[in-house]
Amino acid sequence: MIRRIALIISALLLLLSPSLVAAENDIAVINSEVEINFPSQAMFTLEAESYTDIVDVRLYYQVDKMNYAVVVSEGWADFTPATKIEANWAWDMRQASLPPGAEVTYWWMIEDAAGNRFETSHEVMHFDDERYPWQSLTSSGFFEKSQISGDDGAELTIFWYEGDESFAQELMNACEGGLTRLTEDIGTHPGRPIKIYVYASVEGLQGAMIFPQEWTGGAAFTEFSIIAISIPTSRLEWGKRALVHELTHLVVHQATFSPYAELPTWLDEGLAMYNEGELDPNLRPFLQRAIFEDRLISVRSLCSPFSAEPEKAYLSYAQSYSLVEYLLDNYGQGKMINLLTLLKQGNTYDEALVEVYGFDIEGLDAGWRGTLSNSVAQAPRVWLHPALIAVLAALATALALAGALALEGWTWRGLPAKPTKEDKL
Ligand SMILES: [Zn+2]
Repeated sequence: MIRRIALIISALLLLLSPSLVAAENDIAVINSEVEINFPSQAMFTLEAESYTDIVDVRLYYQVDKMNYAVVVSEGWADFTPATKIEANWAWDMRQASLPPGAEVTYWWMIEDAAGNRFETSHEVMHFDDERYPWQSLTSSGFFEKSQISGDDGAELTIFWYEGDESFAQELMNACEGGLTRLTEDIGTHPGRPIKIYVYASVEGLQGAMIFPQEWTGGAAFTEFSIIAISIPTSRLEWGKRALVHELTHLVVHQATFSPYAELPTWLDEGLAMYNEGELDPNLRPFLQRAIFEDRLISVRSLCSPFSAEPEKAYLSYAQSYSLVEYLLDNYGQGKMINLLTLLKQGNTYDEALVEVYGFDIEGLDAGWRGTLSNSVAQAPRVWLHPALIAVLAALATALALAGALALEGWTWRGLPAKPTKEDKL
């Protein structure tokens, strides 16, 4: 009986739409390939033939990244209608800006004059930077569920081409340490596999970017789960901090990914700074001098992107670190998870703070300042002397302005990260 019904259905299908059944016999794909001209273009080529003229050829593609909805794009190929055709479609990356390591699923739809249609199988294009002989090292994985997004954990892979295995292993250890601390602080792990491309020089990294003038030390492409960063082998210690900082942004942004989420800059940067480990000793004098001179920036101003002026920017980062330290030390992980969850759901900063902690932004500002004067009062006498602090801060500013080695890491922190955009380092 079932067999009879099946036969009737296929007979009906033949009557209603002969092309659906006949298509595979009429249209044949001879060749399909994609040539990547990294980082500027991907050229898709299709050769196909049919018994009648092929009149329509389109490429469909889907970029593998976090999205609020499924997005399939369409490219109209160039070709001359004939029974045997070669169709080309060039994807200009000035419009797409794919990072190294991005993956794109694509397929062709071919139609001939008789109305036959044929869809090719789905293939994956790997947008790899083949200028370098990449080696890779993969972590054993972080497989606990995120307490904010509910995502399962995922592994992390470092790609590098200069330096030996121990160089990559040191970076991996730093990443694993950072992710472990992040779990303790905000109960979240990477939700998608993370790929980190470590370039040996800024020039190497800039060669991977279409608009290199916008880039300095690297970038985190949150939605792609990809970080591209330049870490010369001679700057390993700086590189470890920079990498953990960006990795933290990436994981926090993924965990709070939603059309409504907006993190205040102090929280976003503060979590990234705090997760690096101890406050960068070069930044501490800026905080201490601001406390003594009563020039702390209000927490409400720190919700917006930081000032581009170096001295204000350094103070903004140092204060952000201190604010996150204050919240975690005094109120713990559970409340930080609640705060991030409420922000993800689209609550305002004040609403989220009041619901979780019982105080708004001004209340946070006041409570935090109160603990600062206590901690400063308990600090060693040498650190209390305002003149000395002023000298140290001035020295640090001078070094920073001169672009000194020790402060190099700060330049890439100049631009704040937003949850749905790439974070420029
Ligand atoms: Zn940052």
